[in-house]
Amino acid sequence: MILAQLPRLHLSIFAKSHFSLASSHFNLINPNPPVKLAKTLFSSLATVEPVPLPVSDSSHLEDAPMEIPLDKLFIPPETDISGDDPSRLAARILKGSNIVLSKYARDAQVVQADYVKSSVRTEDCPADGLPEFALVGRSNVGKSSLLNSLVKRKRLALTSKKPGKTQCINHFRINDNWYLVDLPGYGYASAPHELKKDWNKFTKDYFLNRSTLVSVFLLVDASLPAKQIDLDYASWLGQNQVPMTMVFTKCDKRKKKKNGGKRPEENIKEFQDLIQGFFETTPPWIMTSSVTNQGRDEILLHMAQLRNYWLKH
Ligand code: GDP
Repeated sequence: MILAQLPRLHLSIFAKSHFSLASSHFNLINPNPPVKLAKTLFSSLATVEPVPLPVSDSSHLEDAPMEIPLDKLFIPPETDISGDDPSRLAARILKGSNIVLSKYARDAQVVQADYVKSSVRTEDCPADGLPEFALVGRSNVGKSSLLNSLVKRKRLALTSKKPGKTQCINHFRINDNWYLVDLPGYGYASAPHELKKDWNKFTKDYFLNRSTLVSVFLLVDASLPAKQIDLDYASWLGQNQVPMTMVFTKCDKRKKKKNGGKRPEENIKEFQDLIQGFFETTPPWIMTSSVTNQGRDEILLHMAQLRNYWLKH
C-alpha cells in the first residue's frame, strides 16, 4: 500500500483552518481565520501581529511560526481528523513537520542498531522480509550525521563510508525488527559519467523492486536554495509513485548570509513550491538538525507509524 498516494480524509471540514509551525513549537495563529485557502505550503511567515519588514532585515523573524494549510498536511491512512478542533489537531502534528500522528505511532525507540551487510544489487539485499526505510541525498547533505543521530551511535554510519561501500546499499538492522538503509550519495561533481549512470541504475532498481521498502527518506539541505538535482530526484520518486518523506537537514543553520542566503524555512518553502506539481497529494516532510537533534524523535515516530501500518496490511 502506498501511503503517500492515499486520499486525504475529511479535509473540507477544516478547509479554512491554517496551522502554524515553528521549528520548536506549534502556534495556532487564528482558530477562525478569514476565508482564504492558501495554495502554497506555508501561506506566510506569519507573526501574530504582522508587521511589514524590509526584505533585507528579517533576521529577527528567526523563530517566527510558519503556517500550513490543511490540504498540505500528511494525514496517514485510517486517521480521522474530522472530530478534532484546531488546537487538538495541532497537538497531533509532529513538531517541525506536516505529519499528523496516527494510532500506529508507537514503539519508536531505537534500542539496538547493527550493521548487517552491503549489497550492490537489489536481489542481494537481506531476504528476511523486515520493513525498511532508505536514506538518500546529495553527498554532504548530512546523511551519515542523521543516521548516527537516529541510532544514537557516533560512528555507525562510518561503515557506509569505508572504501568499497560508498556505492553500496548498506543495511542496518534496528531492534532486530526493521532496517535503516543507507544509499549512495548522489551529485558528486567529480564522479565519472559512467559511474554516475551506474549508481542511478542500481538505486532506481532498488526503489522500484524492493518489496519491503516502506518509504524513501529524501534528504535535502535546508541551508541552501533548492538544487536542480534534488528537484529531479523528488520528481522521479513522485512520477514513479515511490513513497517518500522529505527530510530537511541542517535546520540549525539559521543565520541569514550576507550574500542574500535564505533562512531554512524560506528554502523549504521554495523547495515545496517547486515540487508540488510532482505529487497528487503532499508528501510528508520534516525539519531536522543533527547538531541540535531537532526532528530526531519525530522522524522515529513517523517511521514507526509507517512501519506499523505496513506490517498490518
Ligand atoms: P553525508 O556526506 O551526506 O554523509 O554528510 P555528513 O553527515 O558527512 O555531513 C557533511 C557535513 O555537514 C559535515 O561537515 C557535517 O558536520 C555537516 N552537518 C551534517 N549535519 C549537519 C546539521 O544538521 N547541521 C549542521 N550545521 N551541519 C551538519
